[in-house]
Amino acid sequence: MASLTSGKEIWFVTGSQHLYGEAAIRQVGENSEQIVKSFSHAASIPIPVVFKPVMTTPDAIYRLCIEANASESCIGIITWMHTFSPAKMWIRGLRLLNKPLAHLHTQFNRELPWSSIDMDFMNLNQAAHGDREFGFICARMRLKRKVIVGHWQDKEVLEKIGTWARAASAWADAQGMRIARFGDNMREVAVTEGDKVEAQIKLGYSVNGFGVGDLVGFIEKVSDAEIAALVTTYQDQYSVSFTDAAQKNSVKEAARIEIGLRNFLDDGGFKAFTTTFEDLYGLVQLPGLAVQRLMADGYGFGAEGDWKTAALVRSMKVMGEGLAGGTSFMEDYTYDLSAGDQKVLGAHMLEVCPSIAEGKPSLEVHPLGIGGKAAPARLVFNGSAGPAIVASLIDMGNRFRMVVDDIDVVAHPPMPKLPVARVVWKPRPDFRTAAAAWILAGGAHHSGYSRALTAEHIEDYTEIAGIEFLHINKNTCISEFKKEIRSNEVYYLLESGR
Ligand code: MN
Repeated sequence: MASLTSGKEIWFVTGSQHLYGEAAIRQVGENSEQIVKSFSHAASIPIPVVFKPVMTTPDAIYRLCIEANASESCIGIITWMHTFSPAKMWIRGLRLLNKPLAHLHTQFNRELPWSSIDMDFMNLNQAAHGDREFGFICARMRLKRKVIVGHWQDKEVLEKIGTWARAASAWADAQGMRIARFGDNMREVAVTEGDKVEAQIKLGYSVNGFGVGDLVGFIEKVSDAEIAALVTTYQDQYSVSFTDAAQKNSVKEAARIEIGLRNFLDDGGFKAFTTTFEDLYGLVQLPGLAVQRLMADGYGFGAEGDWKTAALVRSMKVMGEGLAGGTSFMEDYTYDLSAGDQKVLGAHMLEVCPSIAEGKPSLEVHPLGIGGKAAPARLVFNGSAGPAIVASLIDMGNRFRMVVDDIDVVAHPPMPKLPVARVVWKPRPDFRTAAAAWILAGGAHHSGYSRALTAEHIEDYTEIAGIEFLHINKNTCISEFKKEIRSNEVYYLLESGR
C-alpha cells in the first residue's frame, strides 16, 4: 500500500494587522517563513507544512478559510499571532472553517535581549498577548483545537505538532472512508453494535454490508499460479516448519482467501473490513493469515462485525505510519491474577497484526474450536515489549466515547500450546484500577492496540472529531474517574442540545 498520508499538507497561518506598517508586516512574514522551513526539516513532523501569507484583514482570513475547506491536500491549519491580530477579524473565517485547527503559541525570539530591548522589539514579539486575543475568540466560539506552547525550535513543540498532524491525517483519511462488513455482527453481542448513520455524520466513514458470497466470488477467481507465488512469499517472510500435506493445503487455501479478499477490498476502495465466524458460508476456513497480513499493509480490521474497531485500527495505522512499534486489532482475552503481579494476555482467535511482533512470526496450521470450518493458517508470535496503548471506541447512544489505557507490554514465559499471536501487558496505573475504570467506562473487549502511538495521538483525534475521551493512566483514581464520567454525561447532554 502506498504511503497513507501522501499528497497531504498543513497550512501555517500567521495573524497580524496593518497598525505596525509595511516593514513590520514584512518582518512578521519572514520570521514565519523561517519557522515553516524549520518545520519541514523536523523529523517529528510527518506532513509538509506550507507557509501562507500573513493575515491582516477579515476578508483575507475569510478567503483563506474557504480555500482550506475546499483544498483536497490541506488536512489542517496551524495559527500563530506573531503580533496582535484583533480577533473579531477572525470570526467570519473561523465560523466556517471545517479543517482541524492547532494554535501554536510561540515567540520568534527565544530570549529577551535584556540590554537592548526597546518598544520596537516589544511590538514585533507580542505573541504573549496576540495569542491570548486569538485564544479568546476560539474559546468564545467553542472551537475544537489543540493549543501548543513553547519556542518553535523546542523538541517538545515539534513533537506535539507532529502528534496533532498525525491525528489530522487520520481524520482526513477517515472522511469518505469505506468499510466493508462481511456478514453482520456476532449474534447477541452488544458492544460491537452501534449507529452507523451517526458514525458517518460524526466521524466521516461509511459502513456497508456485503454477502460472504460476494467475497467467495473473488476468491474463486484466484489462479493456482497466484497462490503458488504468495506461498513462496510466506516461506520467505515467516518460519515454516510443517511438512504435512493437509497443512500445506490449508496454507494454499489461506493464500487463496488473502488474494481474493485483497482484490475485493481494492476493487471497492475499502480501507477497513470486518468478518464474523458465524457467517462463513462458502469459505473453507476462517480468514486468519489473510486478515493478519492485510492489517500489516494498513487495512483496518474488526472481528465479529466490529466496524467501530475496524475504523479505529485503520485510523491508528494512519496515525502511526513510519513510527516503530506497530498497531493491531486486539482483545483482552485472559488474565494472570498472581497477587501483586496481575497481567492481561491479549490475543484473538487468529487476527493479530504481525507489525507488533517480536522477531519472525511462525506460520502454523491448527484446528479451531469455533466456527465449524477447516483448520486455518495463522501467524504465531509474541508482541514486542515496552510502552503501548489500547483504545476502544463505543457508542453510548447519545455520543461516541473513546477509552484509552496506557499499558506496559512485558516479557513472559513460553506458551508452546497456545497457537495464536499474543501480547502480555500490565495496565497503568495498576491492574485493579485500570480494569475497574475500563469497565466503568464501558470500554469493549476489542481494542486498537499500538506500540507506535501514545494516548495524545488519540486525544488529538477525539478533539478534532468532537467525541468524548477518557484516559486511564498513571494518575487515574477510581473516585475521580467516576466523577469525570458523571460530568461528561451532563456535558454531552447539554452540548447535543445546542
Ligand atoms: Mn472478538
